[in-house]
Amino acid sequence: MEFEAIAAVNDTIGRVRGGPLLARAFTRHVAALMALTASTFFASGTPHSYAQSLSGDALARRLKSAYPDDISAVEGNAVIFKDGTRLAIDDGGGEKSFDAWLARPDIADMFRFTYPAGEALTVPASDFDPGRARNTAFFEKIYGNCRTGDVRPDLVSVVWLKTKAPQRVLMSARNGVAEKLRGVSAELDALPSRFDRFLTPIAGSYVCRAIAGTSTPSAHGYGIAIDIALSQSNYWRWDQRRDRRHRVPQYRNAIPIEIVAIFEKHGFIWGGRWSHYDTMHFEYRPELIEPSR
Ligand SMILES: [Zn+2]
Repeated sequence: MEFEAIAAVNDTIGRVRGGPLLARAFTRHVAALMALTASTFFASGTPHSYAQSLSGDALARRLKSAYPDDISAVEGNAVIFKDGTRLAIDDGGGEKSFDAWLARPDIADMFRFTYPAGEALTVPASDFDPGRARNTAFFEKIYGNCRTGDVRPDLVSVVWLKTKAPQRVLMSARNGVAEKLRGVSAELDALPSRFDRFLTPIAGSYVCRAIAGTSTPSAHGYGIAIDIALSQSNYWRWDQRRDRRHRVPQYRNAIPIEIVAIFEKHGFIWGGRWSHYDTMHFEYRPELIEPSR
């Protein structure tokens, strides 16, 4: 089903629910920002502001439980990897504009928006893109840099939809990503046949490339992302040709929530939750989903 018909109704819901509820853990402005409510946030029209809802302790807990193979500790402003490497959580540069957030996020910036795991489908608020910003140093530390060949050794073959229409996809074995995708696949494989057209053939998994229109490495280059059926998908960059009136085209989606919920249960986020929508795209980002879910 196309989503446009109910966009107007859901837009209201999206605006109330969809704001950046997570915090930079170490901002000097936390106290002032706590005074901002969701409604004043949207009324003010400043989508690069922050509100406080994730403490530094919660952020540390999320990172450690998401990446047990690689992270040994989180201390103060540092993520400490098992080989002793340290990366800063907050780069100290203060609040970023939306474009700077997307192009040069620090680790805290990755938590700027609350990813709405398990929630109903809604039209995302303007520039609500939870998980779309990735700190390159962080992900290259965990999965490697595909351009220098150090992602490949960790890639394993996963059989996608063993019963419905078997295909092999390459995913990283680090931190259990491939195993999580096997869990997703097993559950999707058990769905009724009316879901098949959304799931097969897949449009892609591991590819060493930058994100279209940028020089930022794609999640596909880390072996943590999969694109499901192209024929049922909507992507904001493709729709720009169709809708030139808006900076970001009007949101469209056809992917059923049942599919999204299964991915989210296993730690994958969905590009259909982004205002810059990419509805075929799922990537393993367990740090954005509360572990108890
Ligand atoms: Zn993708």
